[in-house]
Amino acid sequence: MKISALSSGSSGNCFYVSDKNNSVLIDCGISCRQVLEKLSDLKQNPTNLKAIFVSHEHTDHIKGVDVLAREFGIPVYATKGTYKNCFLCSDESLIQEIKEDETIKIGNMEISSFLKSHDAASPVSFNIKNGKQISIITDIGYACKSVCENVSDSDFLVLESNHDISMLESGPYPYFLKKRIASNLGHLSNLHSGLCVLEHGTKKLKNIVLAHLSAVNNTSSLALSNFRNLIKERKDMKPKIFVSERGKHTPIFDI
Ligand SMILES: [Zn+2]
Ligand SMILES: [Zn+2]
Repeated sequence: MKISALSSGSSGNCFYVSDKNNSVLIDCGISCRQVLEKLSDLKQNPTNLKAIFVSHEHTDHIKGVDVLAREFGIPVYATKGTYKNCFLCSDESLIQEIKEDETIKIGNMEISSFLKSHDAASPVSFNIKNGKQISIITDIGYACKSVCENVSDSDFLVLESNHDISMLESGPYPYFLKKRIASNLGHLSNLHSGLCVLEHGTKKLKNIVLAHLSAVNNTSSLALSNFRNLIKERKDMKPKIFVSERGKHTPIFDI
């Protein structure tokens, strides 16, 4: 399989996973035009897109879904809580309901939803399996049981590393927003992202992409150094660690 984080952060999240002639997007929080530009940059064919999986209804995860889905006639998979709580796609025949723990087969890839804790109606994360497992986990207040299990099963992990706790506390956000971000229904801090992998990662985990970094309450170097410092205790694990920079796509990773 191939994977790229086309975009991540509060300005838009979109992850591309491909397996020869079939590819899928996990979330589409950037415009259709941006998706096409990034795929072209990466020399990937947009007509291979067979599905868009939506993790929850926040704008930074759905903004480009309607136009992209209609342009290419791509089915959009979302939980009932997600599609009932937002404008997802004006062609309702493209919306496919998935349960919070369901597996959909696209070509040789099996894409499974699993529960997560976030302030949305019925939020899920996804893993993609074809021999190996990719897990894409962002927008989580804390690492609940299903998240920890998926971290343990992953060969390739995209994991939220949203904020530095002291930057959030001393930063410019209003008190209610700081409380929301730091809550169990908010976003995962650098510290808790690192601790999650320290406790639940296994030696098969070869690549980690830190994602959904806050532009205000985090920096790439802080997220990276924090993560490296935490997981160096695990002498059995030597994953490569990358950051999904805001506004840029990552390279294509082959796994
Ligand atoms: Zn988000
Ligand atoms: Zn969200």
